[in-house]
Amino acid sequence: MFKLGITGGIASGKSTAVAWLKQQHIPCIDADMVAREVVEPNTPGLQAIVKHFGDTVLHTDGTLHRETLGQIVFHNDNERLKLNEILTGYIRARIMELTCQYEQNGEALVMYDIPLMIEGSWHTMMDALWVIYVTKDTQINRLMHRNNYSREDALARIHSQISLDEKRAYATVVIDNNGTEQELYNQLQSAYTRLKVNL
Ligand code: ADP
Repeated sequence: MFKLGITGGIASGKSTAVAWLKQQHIPCIDADMVAREVVEPNTPGLQAIVKHFGDTVLHTDGTLHRETLGQIVFHNDNERLKLNEILTGYIRARIMELTCQYEQNGEALVMYDIPLMIEGSWHTMMDALWVIYVTKDTQINRLMHRNNYSREDALARIHSQISLDEKRAYATVVIDNNGTEQELYNQLQSAYTRLKVNL
């Protein structure tokens, strides 16, 4: 099974690209979705969080009280690292489980939508990595526009990640999303056509 990794930087167009690829019926493992799944009520992931942080991080209906947990980890680096450590284990296990399921179903191709692809070393298990790339100016403008951020807020968020110039060094294919959405789709179409030949 060919594993296609898709990544980018904040507001570089990863979600837009993934939406187009899903329209081509490529199965997708979505790390953000997995991250929500592993802390649903009655999961071992949520139990591990409660064991460490106490049941003040639960609503009365047993769902995760994200605000309370956020307050704890926002003010304490050690607790933030601990939370990451707990979550990462469950997220990894679930992504590997989904991978096995797709493999057993005989899928030829699966894409991985993982925001922290390189930071989390996921790229090492991909057969190809497409990086949705924009210049810093485009990134600032799109982020300010999408999230209604000031320039300073946008820059702070961009600088908290590995830069897109560094990420593109890991790319099998760099998808340049500085142009129109149609230009993005055209590049995706040609990269996908080339990939399919090798499946
Ligand atoms: P990411 O998932 O990488 O954070 P998005 O796909 O949400 O990025 O794109 C960021 C913003 O830029 C969104 O508002 C999206 O609609 C817009 N956008 C994406 N690609 C283009 C493009 N080629 N031209 C104009 N706007 C775009």
